[in-house]
Amino acid sequence: TILNHNDYLSTLNDPQREAVLHGEGPLMIIAGAGSGKTRVLTYRIAHLIENGVDPFRILSLTFTNKASGEMRHRIEGAVGTEARNIWMGTFHSVFAKILRIEARYLGYTSDFSIYDTDDSKSLLRSIIKEYNLDDKTYKANVVFNRISGAKNRLVSADDYINNPAIQADDEAAKMKEIGRLYKTYATRCFQANAMDFDDLLFNTNVLFRDFPDVLYKYQHKFQHVMVDEFQDTNVSQYLITRKLSAVHRNICVVGDDAQSIYAFRGANIENILNFEKDFPDVRTIKLEQNYRSTGTIVNAANSVIARNKSQLKKETFTANEEGSLIDVLKAGSDNEEGRLVATAIFEEKMQKALRNENFAILYRTNAQSRSFEEALRKLGIKYRIIGGQSFYQRKEIKDLLAYLRFTVNQRDEEAFKRIINLPKRGIGDSTVAKIAVAASENDLPIWDVVANIGNYASGRTITPIDQFATLIKSFKILVEEGKDAYEVAAHIAKASGILRELYEDKTVEGLSRYENVQELLNGIKEFVDNPESEDKTLSAFLQSVSLLTNADEPDDNNDNDRVTMMTIHSAKGLEFRNVFIVGLEEDLFPSQMMLESRQDLEEERRLFYVAITRAEKRLSFSYAESRYQWGRLKMCEPSRFLLEVDPKFLNASRILHGPERDSSQPAASSARNLVQRKSTEYKPVSNVAPHIPSEGFVPTDTFDLAEGDKVEHLKFGFGEVTKIEVNGSDRKATVKFDLVGEKTLLLSFAKLRIL
Ligand code: ATP
Ligand code: MG
Repeated sequence: TILNHNDYLSTLNDPQREAVLHGEGPLMIIAGAGSGKTRVLTYRIAHLIENGVDPFRILSLTFTNKASGEMRHRIEGAVGTEARNIWMGTFHSVFAKILRIEARYLGYTSDFSIYDTDDSKSLLRSIIKEYNLDDKTYKANVVFNRISGAKNRLVSADDYINNPAIQADDEAAKMKEIGRLYKTYATRCFQANAMDFDDLLFNTNVLFRDFPDVLYKYQHKFQHVMVDEFQDTNVSQYLITRKLSAVHRNICVVGDDAQSIYAFRGANIENILNFEKDFPDVRTIKLEQNYRSTGTIVNAANSVIARNKSQLKKETFTANEEGSLIDVLKAGSDNEEGRLVATAIFEEKMQKALRNENFAILYRTNAQSRSFEEALRKLGIKYRIIGGQSFYQRKEIKDLLAYLRFTVNQRDEEAFKRIINLPKRGIGDSTVAKIAVAASENDLPIWDVVANIGNYASGRTITPIDQFATLIKSFKILVEEGKDAYEVAAHIAKASGILRELYEDKTVEGLSRYENVQELLNGIKEFVDNPESEDKTLSAFLQSVSLLTNADEPDDNNDNDRVTMMTIHSAKGLEFRNVFIVGLEEDLFPSQMMLESRQDLEEERRLFYVAITRAEKRLSFSYAESRYQWGRLKMCEPSRFLLEVDPKFLNASRILHGPERDSSQPAASSARNLVQRKSTEYKPVSNVAPHIPSEGFVPTDTFDLAEGDKVEHLKFGFGEVTKIEVNGSDRKATVKFDLVGEKTLLLSFAKLRIL
């Protein structure tokens, strides 16, 4: 849909329009969920372009690549293909692009690799081993988090080592060597011509700090800087945006302090307060009307967040309908929770003629997805899981990508370690470690050691390493000849032996791994064929995939009508008609790890607020009384968060606050009595064996259906029609099923057969 200028201004309320029309100078919008912050940013960019601002000179930073893709798409609807020229993306992707252009200033080449978290941890494990440190005290994970925390506060390895105050925490944790590990880790990354995720921000800061002419260039290139989800920027990100807009001061940030959920990764709410100090003439605009959700949902969310002590004061109201109360589903076990939720989706879909994509299941941790997957699959409801084991995290995908990475950047130590013995060439771990150390000690690229292995080693391993070097040389030639990403990758997949090895594995898993690699090759082909990719080299392709976040999973080509399952963290900014927040149990949500301080608990509560505010029309909570965790059955208490929602918004309020409530009991134990609706409504399908439809079940036309007819339903089994209601074009039948009791079905959707 093409919007013209007047159209889009007329779909905004007064303060939104004011923000869109705001001319030059700093602008900040801190407002509640669903109040149109992202919409304002989008329209503001469109408006700037309409008024002659060159899209190349607009920088817009969003939280996921998907969010920026959507924003670009909308802007394109308003201003046309010019929108493609906007500098738009996540902090990481935009600054990776700038770092590639300016790499030489920092001693990198523009082909530098990006280490993902696995690469970083693997490198740390090697170093910890080389230093003979106890890997129980020095867990790669913990060390990695310390280094990452330091980088996000812009503390370099040298700063770290020279500053006792910074080390104090780690010393207390008896990890005195973190400084040395940090230093070695940073050196090894540099020698590998690799940056980890945090480096992308850290090095951008270094670049702008040490090379004023580079900073000058970008300060004058970008005329407008926009940041969505400003509450979740860390110090490093904030400094970059502040520097970039220091000259023109056209910076517009939007966010919601109540949705700040990344403090654990260094995001800093203080940025909001600092912003007013750094830009004292900032224009602050309030948005108070929520357009996303029903009155019940907005007010329930307000009742929850009001419990947080540290928050900026703001109001949110909605003119939307009151909507239905929030359902509370109580399950005996995690499996039953899966069935209750899946059944509720099934019924709601049938009764309201909804699509799968109208539903989302949000959980605290990825591990919770299993029971929902099983239950949805049984009911034949398609779903998609965002995050978890993502496509790009699969071993076979990372293996092929490592070959591609090493072909482009022969210093890449982690890629090298992955492929040197894959497929098996009889090269052991100790040889690999020796090569890495030799390279590092002589300050040489890994490749120099590999290509001249005779100078560094003797014996049996020389031949296979030589053969490996010849193989990589042949790949490099293809790149040098100017072959595109697909030609090179397809050749490497074959010549490396990866495809053959997977092909020969005839197990189901082997087959699916083979297909995954084919799928990656298809993806590369698509990248090459896409008219929007200007640069079709392997290096450009690698850059485009190395920064995909969990929320950027490849969409199934033509089949997007799926229930979405994801963690609440990745649901930020999104909206769905019906939302299920599941696993509302103590120690799970709020997470056990977040119970130690008020700050942590408040962050969990903000997470709950984010979850609630994703829902447009209908919200449900669920919890289980027992669940399997780490292989053991565990009894669970309902989450304190269930009690923090004003009970007048809950469908279970009657039970929560009825006469049977014993006020001497701790709150959690009365929450245990929460019961969803009449339990008969859900129980049947979950507690009895599913109906197996008669052979050749074909739904019949139900137009002539009458009271007393005997019917068979695809899922509910056999029953008798007890009532027919006609309401306009809606025809409903109440059927008493043998297995599941009475159900009311919308006849245009019900899969019924008249017997
Ligand atoms: P969040 O805090 O969750 O990121 P947000 O403040 O960014 O939310 P948007 O996603 O921009 O909110 O808007 C929420 C929904 O309300 C969207 O579907 C948007 O299209 C709609 N909306 C926003 N403003 C208006 C308006 N003036 N008229 C109609 N719909 C609106
Ligand atoms: Mg938003």
